[in-house]
Amino acid sequence: MAEDGRVPLRWVWITLGLVVASSVWFLVWVTTGAGPVAIAYVAVPLGGVVAVAALYDLWRAVRGNRLARQFWGRLLVGAASMTVGYVLMAVNAFRFSVGGYTPSMPISAAAAVGLGFALAMWAVARVPVGTSGTGQRRRMYLDRTIAFLGCATLLWHFGMAPMLTADERWAPQTLVLIGLAFVLSIAGITKVAYLGEGPVDRTALRLVAAMSLTAAGVAVLAATYGNAGGPPSQAVVLPLAPLMLVLAVRVQSNAFAGVRRSPRSNSSLLPYLAVAAVDLPLVAVATGHLRWPGRVVILAAVAVSVLVIIRQFLAFRDNSRLLGALRTKEERLQHEVSHDGLTGLANRAWFRDRLQSALASGSGATVLLVDLDDFKAVNDSLGHDVGDELLVSLAGLLREVTGDDGMPVRIGGDEFAVLLAGGTTVGETVAQRILDALTQPISAHRLMVQASIGIATAAPEATLDSVLREADVAMYAAKQRGKAAYVRYLPGMAEPVLAHMRLGGELRRALDAGEFHVVYQPVMALETGVIIGVEALVRWQHPERGLVPPVEFIPAAERTGLIVELGRFVLRETCRQTAAWLAEFGPDALQKPGVNVSARQLHDPGFVADVMAALGDHGLTPDRLVLELTESAALRGGQISRTLHELDRLGVKLALDDFGTGESSLSLLRAFPVAIVKLDKSFVDGIEVDDANPAARDARQAVARAVIQMAGALGLDAVAEGIENEAQAARLRELGYTLGQGYLLARPMPAAEMTKLLAAQRSAVAAG
Ligand code: C2E
Ligand code: CA
Ligand code: CA
Repeated sequence: MAEDGRVPLRWVWITLGLVVASSVWFLVWVTTGAGPVAIAYVAVPLGGVVAVAALYDLWRAVRGNRLARQFWGRLLVGAASMTVGYVLMAVNAFRFSVGGYTPSMPISAAAAVGLGFALAMWAVARVPVGTSGTGQRRRMYLDRTIAFLGCATLLWHFGMAPMLTADERWAPQTLVLIGLAFVLSIAGITKVAYLGEGPVDRTALRLVAAMSLTAAGVAVLAATYGNAGGPPSQAVVLPLAPLMLVLAVRVQSNAFAGVRRSPRSNSSLLPYLAVAAVDLPLVAVATGHLRWPGRVVILAAVAVSVLVIIRQFLAFRDNSRLLGALRTKEERLQHEVSHDGLTGLANRAWFRDRLQSALASGSGATVLLVDLDDFKAVNDSLGHDVGDELLVSLAGLLREVTGDDGMPVRIGGDEFAVLLAGGTTVGETVAQRILDALTQPISAHRLMVQASIGIATAAPEATLDSVLREADVAMYAAKQRGKAAYVRYLPGMAEPVLAHMRLGGELRRALDAGEFHVVYQPVMALETGVIIGVEALVRWQHPERGLVPPVEFIPAAERTGLIVELGRFVLRETCRQTAAWLAEFGPDALQKPGVNVSARQLHDPGFVADVMAALGDHGLTPDRLVLELTESAALRGGQISRTLHELDRLGVKLALDDFGTGESSLSLLRAFPVAIVKLDKSFVDGIEVDDANPAARDARQAVARAVIQMAGALGLDAVAEGIENEAQAARLRELGYTLGQGYLLARPMPAAEMTKLLAAQRSAVAAG
């Protein structure tokens, strides 16, 4: 079985190849007479082996569906038995055939074939076909009887009757076998003409039933050519049977994999065909040895039946046209309830339904949950029309990158899913394709968006809800890892993620309960130790957990949108405290306090007004404030750019935080009115290590060096972050840095301690 749960196409090609090769062989043999006739017997058992293998594959795969498994299991045993019979027959042919003459069928072979065939047709007879209502059932049985009698008469007249009355006597086992094949195949065919929704795919079932038509072909050949009908039967007609079986298997496995389901047909033309079929032997008899008055009666009866058929056929056509129209309407309604109006993707209901049946059929499924990062911000700042357009574009993108591998779905809001057949690595492949596609701007507004993707593959005993929960947990884990990422669910992942989600819920309470406060870390001149500014850092004093570090709750606050309010608190608190320090220590005590700002806050339409109000309320001028932005892809986009330029026009200073860690630090410098860059701690770490090898040392210092040179060229201030020892400070000074921040200079501290530090500095200045 292939990875996607479908039986490989290879089987179909092999059996088709056998049919073609064997037919070609027959043509050559019949025209040249060369070679042993026994070769005619080779294709069927070979095809039989392939069919058995394919059936076994399918049978193993349909674990979840009892009735389907029963059907395919019976067919498997039947096919195996028939194959054994044909192997015996082939062996017999090689041992005993001479010239163009082939020996009659050994009893053992006939028994195996007959038994297998009967079993296959019994399987067809037993499978439920899903009709409903007594009226419908009665009509169906009537139609089936008509069809059965019609076909039987035809086959009797042209097949069995000539065989029974032939001069050359037929072996009784052959007659019994062919007779049995007749009855069973007609029964099977008349049954599969009426199929509703059952456990076995309609087309597959029809193919299985049609397999028995090969028996009818054999009978007709035998009746027409006698013993000489053997080789074409074996070489040309019968190899079609394994081909049909393998095709049926493929069709069924496609249906299970959700690739394609066979359409439902209106009702059957079969009864009419059957009546017409009875007319053929009637005409044949009438033109034979009857006297003319009798002939007239029969021909008139035939004419009447033909007219009735035409009449019925016209009515049938009208009916099916009406039914067709109804069905189109029904399908449209069906589409409407199972699809999302905005994006045209399948919706949550459809998704649950499909996932459920994938789990039930045991074919396995992988779910990708795709969640847009910061979609709410787009909606809030650019309006719902732009948001809608973004969702439509994303839907198109998902369709494109998913292709034939699966089915994209809109679960609701900005949450999408992709349903994939089977498991293993296809989830990662598709997830990566989605992330890759999102490195380009999308929608008419050319927005840069990112998505977090959770992947979960259904375990054997998974339920619908367990798979969805796992995908959800994985998706949150992806968000926690800094967004624009995919994460596959692993056992044990749920606990920390759930804790994190709970944290998100607790933030609201904590904000109302006043559990947040701000600490300050000084930014100093590296030469003199003079305090130039402070960075405000938020702290959460949790009643039970103690101090929770920002790396744990800032992402949750961003996700829930609470960062806007939390950020406003930090901003106001910092302005209030700064105003107090300036009042106490004079305007030169502290040039610039810095406040961290998340991209999510910049998307907020009220952000500029908030900043101006916080400054104004405490009598501060805008040039007193630095806003520190971390580079992230969300920093791109028209709205943010407008906000930043407006802040710049008003005089607020902007700093790029963690500078050098992102991919596009330089392009951001060009796009935004930045005044300060903060060299990330990772470029300060290890900078002091003094290698004997100057090349290695230079490599380590390369970024720090490049940043200070670039800042100099562009007229920006550069602050080195995370300085922990004197050697680092010395090296940074050598490179040209004048400003720094880090544990060596001072740790983040409560306002009261900062006040003491400022006081000490004032007395030092007064003394010096
Ligand atoms: P950041 O903006 O890069 O802040 C600097 C972080 O480095 C702070 O961690 C600070 O305590 C730490 N640090 C300073 N000097 C040293 C040093 O010498 N060695 C080491 N190992 N660390 C040093 P903190 O306070 O845990 O903050 C972590 C991050 O959380 C911040 O990184 C910032 O991105 C975010 N954050 C903090 N407060 C806020 C806030 O009010 N709003 C927003 N949006 N983000 C905040
Ligand atoms: Ca910062
Ligand atoms: Ca930083």
